[in-house]
Amino acid sequence: MADLTASLRTADPVVADLVDRELFRQRDGLELIASENFASRAVIDAMGTPLTNKYSEGYPRKRYYGGNEVVDEVEQLAIDRARELFQAGHANVQPHAGAQANFAAFMAVLPVGSPLLGMSLAHGGHLSHGHGVNHSGTIWRAFHYGVDPDSGRIDMDQVRDLARKERPKLIVCGGSAYSRIIDFKAFRAIADEVEATLLVDMAHFAGLVAGGVHPSPVPHAQIVTTTTHKTLRGPRGGLILCTAELGKAIDKSVFPGTQGGPLEHVIAAKAVAFAEALRPDFKVYAAQVVSNAKRLASALLERGFRIISGGTDTHVMLVDVRPKGVTGKQAEDLLGRAGITVNRNSIPNDPAPPFVTSGIRLGSPAMTTRGMKEAEMAFIAEMIDRVLTHPDDGTIAAVRSEVHDLTRGFPLYESAKAAMRRERR
Ligand SMILES: *Cc1c(COP(=O)(O)O)cnc(C)c1O
Repeated sequence: MADLTASLRTADPVVADLVDRELFRQRDGLELIASENFASRAVIDAMGTPLTNKYSEGYPRKRYYGGNEVVDEVEQLAIDRARELFQAGHANVQPHAGAQANFAAFMAVLPVGSPLLGMSLAHGGHLSHGHGVNHSGTIWRAFHYGVDPDSGRIDMDQVRDLARKERPKLIVCGGSAYSRIIDFKAFRAIADEVEATLLVDMAHFAGLVAGGVHPSPVPHAQIVTTTTHKTLRGPRGGLILCTAELGKAIDKSVFPGTQGGPLEHVIAAKAVAFAEALRPDFKVYAAQVVSNAKRLASALLERGFRIISGGTDTHVMLVDVRPKGVTGKQAEDLLGRAGITVNRNSIPNDPAPPFVTSGIRLGSPAMTTRGMKEAEMAFIAEMIDRVLTHPDDGTIAAVRSEVHDLTRGFPLYESAKAAMRRERR
């Protein structure tokens, strides 16, 4: 991205060089981390603007600093686009990230010390949903549900039983390593029965909702939180949607409750990403993300891997690698050497410790953004299988070079012509 870093290159060649190296790493590898994506050049450009200079504590037309006439328009645009995209009563675009969005949302409706019910991290949930090492696990009394060991799907009987027994004030669903469509309606019925608020954390699948290929939690939950950088393909950041009634409480909880000045350059980039997601071609993208994930999952099943719940409805899958005689950690390391980036991940009831694990988590959003389709997914499954079945230096080197050749055909932040010119040099 030579032009993007032109001024940086002169002022600070050390940092510019690191940016270049990271760009080449992203270009030259297969990015299968399910929570990653490649934001558009327009999104990246919006972040690199003088909007970063502005202090704008407060909300549009209610700021604690002067000079916010323009920034007010930026933030209002992001709010309006978020509300239109997700058909939400209220949107707060200020959370710095997904974890901050959750903390602010929890604080808005959940008195300190009260019970909270979320999905267990070990079964695909998220740290910020009451895990012991996260403050959400100490500030509130957290209880956790998991998946049924046979189906690999959320055990709704367990959710209902726990809700009746512990009477949580907040029920949370939505995870980081759960591949199936969640029954939001059933969750809401349980929440209503025990007089809890329902919060759906759609950090992972927000882009699929935006693209119309996944049911929306917005009609069912009083609060929906998300990141903006996963399937939604925007800048790194968070977003809270809620009913109009909860709008004031959510806004107060974000600022002044948990954050100071908003990152208006990132909010501008969120506005750009929401506009992109409103366009018809984003529907095509979202549908391809799901088709690609399904193809990758079926190709891995054909090669003898086990997939938790037997497949995926979304962009993500959790793969048990034990049939290949490796641990999750070994699989992550071996595939990394071959240029295939994945993360190890505990599988439900994993006998291996969390640092080792028996699984890897794979996702299709990033490679779909690069233009890959079902045929490439089948080829990727074949390469993964070869590396894990024959983890010797020769196989890894051969696959590394195939990865290089494959990625060349799907340019990232450059035209196909520029990519060819670069290759010839
Ligand atoms: C990624 C994720 C988050 C946290 O997002 P950050 O931006 O990393 O703070 C929260 N909840 C879920 C379900 C996630 O997958």
